[in-house]
Amino acid sequence: MMKELETDSGAKPLDFIRQIIAQDQKDGKHPAPTTRFPPEPNGFLHIGHAKSICLNFGIAREYGGRCHLRFDDTNPSKEETKYVDSIKADVQWLGFNWQEHLYFASDYFDRLYEFAEQLIRINKAYVCDLSADEIRRHRGTLTEAGTDSPNRDRSIEENLALFRRMRDGDFPDGSRVLRAKIDMASPVILMRDPVLYRILRADHHRTGNKWCIYPMYDFTHCLSDMLENITHSLCTLEFQDNRSLYDWVLETLETPCHPRQIEFARLNMTYTVMSKRKLLQLVEEGFVEGWDDPRMLTISGLRRRGYTPKSIRSFCEQIGIGKKESWIDMSVLENAVREDLNETAPRVMGVLDPLKVIIDNYPEGLVEELVAQNHPQKPELGIRSVPFSRELYIERDDFMAEPPRKFFRLGPGREVRLRYGYLITCVSFDQDESSGMVTAVHCTYDPDTKGGNAPDGRKVKGTIHWVSAPHALSCTVNLYDRLFTVEHPDADKDVDFKVHINRDSRIKKENCMVEPSLAGAEPATRLQFERQGYFSVDSAQSLPGKPVFNRIVTLRDSWAKIEKGA
Ligand code: ATP
Ligand code: MG
Repeated sequence: MMKELETDSGAKPLDFIRQIIAQDQKDGKHPAPTTRFPPEPNGFLHIGHAKSICLNFGIAREYGGRCHLRFDDTNPSKEETKYVDSIKADVQWLGFNWQEHLYFASDYFDRLYEFAEQLIRINKAYVCDLSADEIRRHRGTLTEAGTDSPNRDRSIEENLALFRRMRDGDFPDGSRVLRAKIDMASPVILMRDPVLYRILRADHHRTGNKWCIYPMYDFTHCLSDMLENITHSLCTLEFQDNRSLYDWVLETLETPCHPRQIEFARLNMTYTVMSKRKLLQLVEEGFVEGWDDPRMLTISGLRRRGYTPKSIRSFCEQIGIGKKESWIDMSVLENAVREDLNETAPRVMGVLDPLKVIIDNYPEGLVEELVAQNHPQKPELGIRSVPFSRELYIERDDFMAEPPRKFFRLGPGREVRLRYGYLITCVSFDQDESSGMVTAVHCTYDPDTKGGNAPDGRKVKGTIHWVSAPHALSCTVNLYDRLFTVEHPDADKDVDFKVHINRDSRIKKENCMVEPSLAGAEPATRLQFERQGYFSVDSAQSLPGKPVFNRIVTLRDSWAKIEKGA
């Protein structure tokens, strides 16, 4: 589907935002675009933010401009320094750099205050004594105009005096607000004298107790953009109505620069929730291990799971930028990481559900070092040696006591190829008498088939992976499934989205058996376990010499490839 978007030259046509940027550049209006990524430091970034980061920083890179990282920190009760740090780390990890352009909306509190007084002086803002509830009731509806606040006609002098007293702490929290004087009958409800400042005594992560009044988002955002000379202020569609207010503030204050706000469709993904507020609930109520739980679609969760920055960037590129809300399936993200890791991840053998194989005719005590390729399609990734001995582990489901005809793996009397090893034939198996569980499989090997080919040219269809039992490294492997059991967990406002949590979203497998070489694998190393998927060494749970693996994603076409004898 993505292919259709490509032009004959192979280059993708520009999305509607890049078309605007390119035109502004061509016209000389904005030779170098300045964009910003403006997160609120009230949680960790998620995959939706990655879309915005790739757009804003991507444009700066592609058009010779710059992108600011600005923390939109106007809500002291929910914001914390640990979120600031994680956001910075995540943006950098994704491969972007704000250079010296790191800003905080709180750095502008003094200037924002001055702008507020200026609005009062030109009779465009007033102090209102209504409670939050009363303001809501006065606001009207889509079909009915609102009603004026009884304080709407206060004199400029009185407003100035009251606003200063608000700042100086003379009034209790929530008792008064500063409102823009616009139009209580505006068809855009947001324009019905919106609140610009509220009284709130809270410790701010940067300004401490200096302020007891805080500016609202709509007042702060446009002025911060203006102060930073942003040329294009890109945000998601839900801010469409806010654009009227964005423009009103800048026009009314006659600011020297007026950034253009452009809205695009946010990223929505199935089988997950995307709002920080909901992700925070999952963390705080213990449904996941933390913000970086490998099942979370946070940047830190994806990183710990083993996703590469490149795969996330290429996912964002594939989904594109548009104006229509849509839902993206997890498989699109999974494909992006598969494509990247298929190129780069070294191949190894790991057995997730071990079953012992004893090669009856292989000399006891003999150990051979077999040569395995690290990447069958990429010889430049080199080779390694894998020990082979009389006792091996294979995957339990690669053996069947009574296999159907089309089962090309191991069964009584059947011959299979051990990857990089010999052809072996099953002669018998041991069973636990009470449970019927197969406990070991006895085979013979053909010493003339080292490397996997029979000199007589006989055909052996199946190839299975294995590890030498006395040499294998026993380890823990986490297998993941989606975090929710339904496509749209938060679709129904009356049902707690957490009832849809998938209780089996993590399967922890102990005593998996992997190649001994993996004892030294560093945290965050990414590998392909042949036929099982791509895995990474968990950076939180692994100990030196004792790696814990996370499955990043399964392989789509594992069988096809190996059976062709790749
Ligand atoms: P959430 O709804 O998850 O709490 P938010 O919009 O409140 O997110 P902010 O910190 O305000 O989070 O977001 C910073 C920037 O990231 C904003 O410009 C916002 O538009 C953008 N953004 C947030 N979520 C998405 C998304 N799902 N898709 C694209 N951009 C997003
Ligand atoms: Mg927000």
